[in-house]
Amino acid sequence: MPSHNNLTQALHCTRANGDDAHAAPIWMTSAYDFDSAEQASDRFNNLCPGNIYSRFTNPSVSDFERRLAILEHGEEAVGTASGMGAYLALAMAFLGQGDHVLLGAGMFGSTAHLFRQYLGQFGVESQTLPVGHTSLWAQSIRPNTRMLILETPLNPTMEVADIAALSVIARDNGVLLVVDNTVLSPICQQPLRFGADLVVQSAGKFIDGQGRCVGGALVGDSQRIQSVRGVLRSAGMCMSPFNAWVLAASLETLHARMRLHEINARQLCCWLERHPMVTAVHYTGLPGRPDETLIARQQTGHGALISVDIKGGQPAAWAFINALRLVARCTNIGDARTMVTHPWSTTHCRYTPDEKTASGIGPGLVRFSVGLEPPEDVIGDIEQALAQASQTQRKTA
Ligand SMILES: *Cc1c(COP(=O)(O)O)cnc(C)c1O
Repeated sequence: MPSHNNLTQALHCTRANGDDAHAAPIWMTSAYDFDSAEQASDRFNNLCPGNIYSRFTNPSVSDFERRLAILEHGEEAVGTASGMGAYLALAMAFLGQGDHVLLGAGMFGSTAHLFRQYLGQFGVESQTLPVGHTSLWAQSIRPNTRMLILETPLNPTMEVADIAALSVIARDNGVLLVVDNTVLSPICQQPLRFGADLVVQSAGKFIDGQGRCVGGALVGDSQRIQSVRGVLRSAGMCMSPFNAWVLAASLETLHARMRLHEINARQLCCWLERHPMVTAVHYTGLPGRPDETLIARQQTGHGALISVDIKGGQPAAWAFINALRLVARCTNIGDARTMVTHPWSTTHCRYTPDEKTASGIGPGLVRFSVGLEPPEDVIGDIEQALAQASQTQRKTA
């Protein structure tokens, strides 16, 4: 269906196999039957396509992968057990002892910890750099650098990296550019179109959209994705068929959900900007940002994450969070229900205070993942909680 919009292609690319069911079945099977000993041998030796074992391939996982690849504008995708599983598979496929990687400063805490702590044990050296300073990335590449890894926009500070400019640097130096596209989802940004080599997704966030399962994916050209499949076959961080079935169905409604998430997020932003307890609002859709032109070129939407700096530091931020009645205290993102997090003490607690402050994560920073509720209800709850936080702030000021 090359003439259709990729949203239409992603919706229609899966056909229930073998019968007249309109929705795809779940292929809950670990193994597959072979017609003959010859066919088994051919499949094991890559002489003919076909399923062998669900650690290698599974039709439900393949459905998810096909849909995601279309939405990300990639040749191929591979599903993984989780977003972190995708990062581990990435490292096992493309890094070895003595290699060096550049990481976006303030990236998702477990990503930084995986590279610095665990991959560090295997002789992979990593260095963190601010995502907005493109020239610093060019200057920091060493002869043993293999990969540039970043999130844009960066959760929770909403700092934006110039993917196209970084892809030129990566290409000129023969290194891979890997972009974590979890925060915007493939609806609001397609990094592969701007020269990224591989995209990482934590699929349990906006792709799932209802906080039900954990899953991940890597998307890119077929050759690199085949290398990652080789890792999964030996190391086993594969996606479960049940999760793949949930996530493949979720991809059908992702564009509709992202549109409503953004409408609601924009309304909350406007309200927060005028509140006396809020000293700054971080969202890529706000006018007047110095990187406005870059954002307009690179993003096709702004998503649901908003961060605000609250007066009164951690005591006021915690008082605010504890006073919420409707908005959930939950470190997850991408749910249908609005959620709030204190990044300083949770998702980013493994960074040192200096690292957090340098990447714009202060003790008064609060992050919202805006859900699908009518916004007036969310705003009403935030209003009463900010009133309580303001009492804490006045007591401690
Ligand atoms: C959640 C998240 C991850 C980790 O993914 P899991 O599926 O939880 O393992 C990685 N990157 C970002 C930006 C995330 O939000």
